[in-house]
Amino acid sequence: MDLNRLCVHTITTKPWTLLQALQSYQNAGVGGISIWQNAIENIGFAEARKMLDDHEIEVVSYVRGGFFPADSEAGRSQAIGHNKYMLDEAAALGAPSLVLVCGAHPGQSLQTSRAQIKQGIEAILPHAEDLEIKLSIEPLHPMYADTRSAINTLAQANDMAEYFDSLWVGVAIDVYHLWWDPDLYQQIERCGQHNNMVAYHICDWKSPTNDMLNDRGLMGEGCIPIREISDQILKAGFDGFHEVEIFSEHYWNMDQENFLGLIVEAFNNIYS
Ligand code: ZN
Repeated sequence: MDLNRLCVHTITTKPWTLLQALQSYQNAGVGGISIWQNAIENIGFAEARKMLDDHEIEVVSYVRGGFFPADSEAGRSQAIGHNKYMLDEAAALGAPSLVLVCGAHPGQSLQTSRAQIKQGIEAILPHAEDLEIKLSIEPLHPMYADTRSAINTLAQANDMAEYFDSLWVGVAIDVYHLWWDPDLYQQIERCGQHNNMVAYHICDWKSPTNDMLNDRGLMGEGCIPIREISDQILKAGFDGFHEVEIFSEHYWNMDQENFLGLIVEAFNNIYS
């Protein structure tokens, strides 16, 4: 696996500005960048786009839209408006896809949240089509089913993507959220058969995990069979980027240049 297939999410090196990230990723030979909204907050789109154009790095995705469910009509339409705005932002940055962390509301059933997710995607799909930006539904680990996502398995994400049956709706497969699923390989195959594999996120599950959100591990550091999952992904026809998405207080506290070195080393080790 060549380093030009490695993509790093800006949140992974959160302490860095977009410019620092672009320079260091480029120097390290990283091929792609996925941009989180907070990374461009203080820059503005024209400036961010110029920085991106000035570097030999491909923009892979913009992160993260979604969060459609709410317990009021006003809340739901606000979410739809926000997602349309994020699609405009993605277009301004030249990102070909928007990752959807679909959302959930603890005051209502998961079924209700899923219906609202479907309505939300339906409402923003015409805008995504106009801008030619793919919506990638990312199933999240069930430990986040209370507030972050009512889509918790790849089967559910596949169901949703196949319901829309659109070139502009697909799935983001993240090993952190899905490694435990006994149906994972079957569902990866299904995702490939329907041409719904838009993105592939990698990191590792540390054991023990000390924080449910911000203690993800470097590839090879935990218990996820990443190489085996990647082999299934490739077998199913995925030829996109392998995106490193690590939220970690431990690594954010480290010198980020050293951390990036560890990411490249871990990527090479996994695929050697
Ligand atoms: Zn992810």
